[in-house]
Amino acid sequence: MAKKNSEHCSFCGRERKDVNMLISGIEGQICDYCVDQAYEIVQEEVSSDKVDDTGSLTLKSPHEIKGYLDQYVIGQEQAKRVLSVAVYNHYKRVIELSKKNNKESDSDVEIEKSNIILVGETGTGKTLMARTIAKMLEVPFCIADATVLTEAGYVGEDVESILSRLLQASNYEPEKAEKGIVFIDEIDKIARKSDNPSITRDVSGEGVQQALLKLLEGTTVNVPPEGGRKHPEQKMVKVNTENIMFIAGGAFDGIERKIADRLRTNVIGFAKAEDQKEAIDTKNLLQYVAPQDLKSFGLIPEIVGRLPVVSFMNPLDKETLKQILVEPKNSVIKQFIYLFELDNIKLTFEEGVYDFIADKAIEYGLGARGLRSMLEAILNDAMFDMPSQKSDKQRELRVDIDYVHKQLEKTNIAKLKVA
Ligand code: ADP
Repeated sequence: MAKKNSEHCSFCGRERKDVNMLISGIEGQICDYCVDQAYEIVQEEVSSDKVDDTGSLTLKSPHEIKGYLDQYVIGQEQAKRVLSVAVYNHYKRVIELSKKNNKESDSDVEIEKSNIILVGETGTGKTLMARTIAKMLEVPFCIADATVLTEAGYVGEDVESILSRLLQASNYEPEKAEKGIVFIDEIDKIARKSDNPSITRDVSGEGVQQALLKLLEGTTVNVPPEGGRKHPEQKMVKVNTENIMFIAGGAFDGIERKIADRLRTNVIGFAKAEDQKEAIDTKNLLQYVAPQDLKSFGLIPEIVGRLPVVSFMNPLDKETLKQILVEPKNSVIKQFIYLFELDNIKLTFEEGVYDFIADKAIEYGLGARGLRSMLEAILNDAMFDMPSQKSDKQRELRVDIDYVHKQLEKTNIAKLKVA
C-alpha cells in the first residue's frame, strides 16, 4: 500500500514519530536523518576529490592524528588515542607492504590489519571520528549501514555494496579505493539473534557476518560500480580490501549486562575481591568493553578477531554538549554565525543560551544531533525575515533566553522529546 505522503520521509520512509523533523519539498518530504546522510554523501564527494593523483600517503604520528581529531571531536579521549594509534599502525603497514612489493624491504614480519570497533550510544561521535580521520588522511571514505545488508540472494543489499560506495567516493578508481576507510555503522544489528547458531537460518545475522568477514580479512572482490541489482549490465571492478581500513560502530544496547557479568566472574576469582569491586566504575561500564563481550552479544568470534582494536564512546553529558555547540572547528554555532555573517548580520548569543540548549537536548533525549535541530528552530524566523530587510549597514541579532523561549514556543520542539 502506498504510504501517505504527509506522514513519511519520501527518502527513507521513516514515520513522522520516528524523526525529529520532516521538511517539505515540492514532491515530498525529507527527514533530518536523510538530510544528515545527504550532507555526509556530499562531504564524501568533496573529500574524495582531495585524494592526490598518485594516491600517496603521508604518515602522521599518533600525536598529530589525535591533535587533528581534537579540533573536531569533543571528549572521547580514550577512543581518540586508540583510533590514532590504530590509524598510524594501519598506514605504517600499508607503506611497509608497498616497500616489500618494490623489494625495498625484506622483513619476514607481517603486520596484521588493525580494523577497529567503537562501542557507544548513537550520536556520541563514532561516525564523526571516522569521517574526520578520512578527511585528515585525504583518503576516500564511505559510510555503510549494516542494517540493510543481507546474505547474497536475499532481499536487501549484498556486502559488496559497501565497496560500491567506496569506489564511488574514489572516482571509480580502484587504486584509490584500496587505500580508503569504510565506516560500518550499526554493526550490532547483525549480531546473532540466538546463542544457538543452528536453530534457523539467520539471514540478516550470522550469514551477513560471514560475508562481511571476507571483506575484513582482505580479499579481492568483484564490485558492481553502480551498486545493487538495478544495473545488471554493469562491468564489475576488482577491488582488493587488504589495505582498506574498516571502522565498525554500534550502540550494542544492553552490552553493559554482559560486561558486568564478566567483571563479576573475574572479580570472584581474585583473593582481594572487595578491592577489585571498588575499582569498577559501575556508572560507565562501557569503558571495560572487551572482545569477549562482543562475542557474548552475538558477533561471531571470527568477526571479533578481525576487529582487534576495541574502544568505547562516553555518553554525552551537559558540559560536553555545551562544548560541542561552540568548540569544534565547524561547530553548529560557528556555522550559524557564518551563515548570518554572509548576510552582513552579526549573530551573538547570551552566555546562558548554551546551557539552556544543552539542558533541553538532555531533557528531550536528543543528544548532539538535537543541538542543530534546536538552533534551526530558534533561528528560523530570523533566517526567514532578515535577508529581505535589505540594509547596507551591519545589523545585529542578539539571542538571549527570552528570545529562545519565544521561538521554541512557536515550534513543536517539545514534541521531539524522546519517550
Ligand atoms: P554516532 O555515529 O555515534 O551515532 P555521529 O558521529 O553521527 O554519532 O554524531 C552525530 C552528530 O553529533 C555529529 O555530526 C556531530 O555534530 C555531533 N557530535 C556527536 N558527538 C560529538 C563529539 N564528541 N564531538 C563533537 N561533535 C559531536
